[in-house]
Amino acid sequence: MRSRIPPRPSLRRRRPATRLLGPLLVLLLLAACARAERPWQLGATCYEVFVRSFADSDGDGIGDLRGLTARLDHLNDGDPAGGDDLGVRCVWLMPVAESPSYHGYDVSDHYAVERDYGTREDLQRFIAEAHRRGIRVLVDMVLNHVSSEHPAFQAALRDTAAPERALFRFQPTKGPLNEWGGDNWHRSPVRDEWYYGFFWQGMPDLDYTRPAALAEMQRVARFWLDSIGVDGFRLDAVKFLVEEPGRAQDTPGTHRVLREWAAFVRGVRPGVYTVGEVFDSTGALLAYYPDQLDGYFAFEVADSLVRGVRDGRGSGILAPALRLQREVPQAWRVSPFLRNHDQPRTRTELGGSREKAKQAAVLQLTLPGLPFVYYGEELGMEGTKPDERIRTPMAWALAGPHAGFTTGTPWQPLQPDSLESNVEAQRADPASSLALYRRLIRLRDSLPALAEGRLHPVAASDSAVVAYVRRAGNRAVLVVANLGESALADVLLSAPEGTLPEGRAHLQPLLPVFADVGAARELRAGPGGALRDLVAVPVMPPGYVQVFALEP
Ligand code: CA
Repeated sequence: MRSRIPPRPSLRRRRPATRLLGPLLVLLLLAACARAERPWQLGATCYEVFVRSFADSDGDGIGDLRGLTARLDHLNDGDPAGGDDLGVRCVWLMPVAESPSYHGYDVSDHYAVERDYGTREDLQRFIAEAHRRGIRVLVDMVLNHVSSEHPAFQAALRDTAAPERALFRFQPTKGPLNEWGGDNWHRSPVRDEWYYGFFWQGMPDLDYTRPAALAEMQRVARFWLDSIGVDGFRLDAVKFLVEEPGRAQDTPGTHRVLREWAAFVRGVRPGVYTVGEVFDSTGALLAYYPDQLDGYFAFEVADSLVRGVRDGRGSGILAPALRLQREVPQAWRVSPFLRNHDQPRTRTELGGSREKAKQAAVLQLTLPGLPFVYYGEELGMEGTKPDERIRTPMAWALAGPHAGFTTGTPWQPLQPDSLESNVEAQRADPASSLALYRRLIRLRDSLPALAEGRLHPVAASDSAVVAYVRRAGNRAVLVVANLGESALADVLLSAPEGTLPEGRAHLQPLLPVFADVGAARELRAGPGGALRDLVAVPVMPPGYVQVFALEP
């Protein structure tokens, strides 16, 4: 060992080089650290998949993991330069654990892959193929309850001495109604007693006031991280984990369980990503930041966007997003979306209008945060309740039966619009919804202003118009949309100091839609980066939406 240490004289001879190398190494190290600390969520878009409805590989009419793997190129083909995929960087798979229901939110075996979807090897092959394309894989995790068919609940039902009794809430008498007057107590089919299940009798709640439930759900999380290899979790219905008398949601006990569960999974896998469903207002959501899960879905942002676009009202549409920006310093912890698997589909909520659906998409995908797109939304797919009809099969092809979803009989009929809301029908059409999503998701990933810029609202002289700037340093984009039913002329845009980089900027339209509508070529920011009475687009037709790069 000793003989390998070079003699001092040779060190001295190298000093001039070292003198240069030192600062250079420090700089390289700093750059590497900066890269390492940049959250992957910046610029990324996630995609929600219902495996049962995505792609069927074996003709039984049920979408499965092999079918999903075969369609991965639609999500991301791994080529960042190509434009013929969506370019999403993460997927959320709705429940893939064994369950007696079609949707999977009542799990009967947390350690087995849903047999309708395939095997554990199929899931691991999917994850490997996703990773090869730069896609992270999140799976749904239901902490609140299990299926009444779960062996632990069955044991607890049948045997009052069973250790599994500690996982659930049993009482000799019926408990009180909840704060909304609902009844969450269900009569045992075995003996004269009652058990608690917030959603329905088929989903008994786990009892997190005792240690057994949390310990078991930590074991489940470790299994999915270590033995299956997922990158994180979407957590279902997290506000209902622990009840107090007269209070079913948002209790201190619920916050404690989330904190402990999340700390546990971070210990198992540093860098794991967790996103929670708190189906509530922005005010209620804020209590879940910043020390529990990593991120949350912004329900109020979604509702504001869909309502504003539907009603043709741009003013006030940004209020929930601006409030979250003020209250949550790390924008990637907020997940804007339009609609998910529990809500009527976006285009249906927008009266079937493809133009309005496109406007909603542009707004969603140019706001701060880590956006989620519900499968089929990129095609403008329709659907309204019952739930099975907002979770219908994807339409892939124009030829053959069932739009290429299956060669058999689909578990649920496709939507009547499946020949238009169809990947093949839209693939080559530059004006299609699919083309717009592909463009937007890539812009979001490539422009610093969209990936991590601050949101600056811009006031418009007509209430049908929404306008805003996203800005990161001297990089900025301007988003403008006319949500109204009539053409608008000479709408004036104004914003206070600090909105824009100072000086002149060229306005470069980035979306092919409405790119031919005449727009100002240049804008000049006022003192301090203020915007005063700019007419960005002389005449905005109804349905107008554009994203402009502001280039010095
Ligand atoms: Ca199948």
